[in-house]
Amino acid sequence: MTVEDGIIVSINPDKKGPKIALPGLVDLHTHLREPGREDAETVESGSRAAALGGYTAVCAMANTSPVADTAGVVEQVWRLGREAGLVDVQPIGAVTVGLGGEQLAELGAMADSAARVRVFSDDGHCVSDPRLMRRALEYVKAFDGVIAQHAEEPRLTTGAQMNEGEVAARLGLVGWPAVAEEAIIARDVLLAGHVGARLHICHVSTAGSVELIRWAKSKGWRVTAEVTPHHLLLTEDLAVDYDPVYKVNPPLRTETDVLALRKGLQDGTIDCVATDHAPHSVEDKECEWAYARPGMLGLETALAIVVQTMGPQWDRIADWMSVAPAKIAGLAGHGHALEVGQVANIAIFDPDVRWTVDPTALASRSRNTPYAGMELRGRVEATYLRGEPTVLNGKATR
Ligand SMILES: [Zn+2]
Repeated sequence: MTVEDGIIVSINPDKKGPKIALPGLVDLHTHLREPGREDAETVESGSRAAALGGYTAVCAMANTSPVADTAGVVEQVWRLGREAGLVDVQPIGAVTVGLGGEQLAELGAMADSAARVRVFSDDGHCVSDPRLMRRALEYVKAFDGVIAQHAEEPRLTTGAQMNEGEVAARLGLVGWPAVAEEAIIARDVLLAGHVGARLHICHVSTAGSVELIRWAKSKGWRVTAEVTPHHLLLTEDLAVDYDPVYKVNPPLRTETDVLALRKGLQDGTIDCVATDHAPHSVEDKECEWAYARPGMLGLETALAIVVQTMGPQWDRIADWMSVAPAKIAGLAGHGHALEVGQVANIAIFDPDVRWTVDPTALASRSRNTPYAGMELRGRVEATYLRGEPTVLNGKATR
């Protein structure tokens, strides 16, 4: 492949060795923690983790401190991303003021800002008021924005610690029932259909959710969905030793759910893989299960986990991890097939390298990876952002 001024000008079809060239990955769901929790992650450290994972663009969730609910905060995050220069950081705006769920944030001002926000989410919280959700969908329809919902009926998950079921009962932990996710998805696909607006479902985690989304798509409603790598691989059984590294929201579910999620991704019901990269400081994570914050790191391991769970289907993986998320987020310049004339956003993956995940060796400022000590197969060797290497020989260039 030859690149000039950030554009692919020729492609050499004689591939040397087993390495795989993919369009630069795009993450629809990243928590970068800046502003507010720079001890857990910064825009720069998260950008470096993303580049090492093969990403050239990430969408930064709004649950920072202060919350990204104004043009000022989304522009701050956008500027920090440009300064770091390792991936394109596209801020997501909050749906409601302070993620409070009571008053719509200034969606139009964020859309018109330098950050040109198109995705809005209260992620971490559900927009549980149906009237507010309807108004948000109506509002973003005007500029083809999308509401990304963290589907969790809060009245059904009060005090919840892990998936509701036999394992939770045995461990004596309050359960987070599948119906709390499915009830909100059912309501919101109906609202999206009614309004004719775009709805995106974050981190789908249950078999029932997959069925509901399949039904909504059969109606022709403008609904998209994501699944995380951890929900494609891990199950609730990991909670048996009360190790809070496995505490996540939505929780790890059952083997039946894992298989339904893989099937849903394979048949196109679920559009894409998103990491829900959620760094937490040692104090917030390495404590008693009940007090630990939910969330897992994901950026540096996502591609290997997707290959492990879905097989080496490179064209589909390019679709799930680059083309589809770029389209959902409206990121021009990302998510294009590697063709002459396209922007040179590229990830080079060596599928044969074996490596053991060492939390202290990750670029993230946090260590809460559920894959610590696990041997993974395949690693990103190089990443190029507009033709400039951000990762070479598996190491960040800055
Ligand atoms: Zn969430």
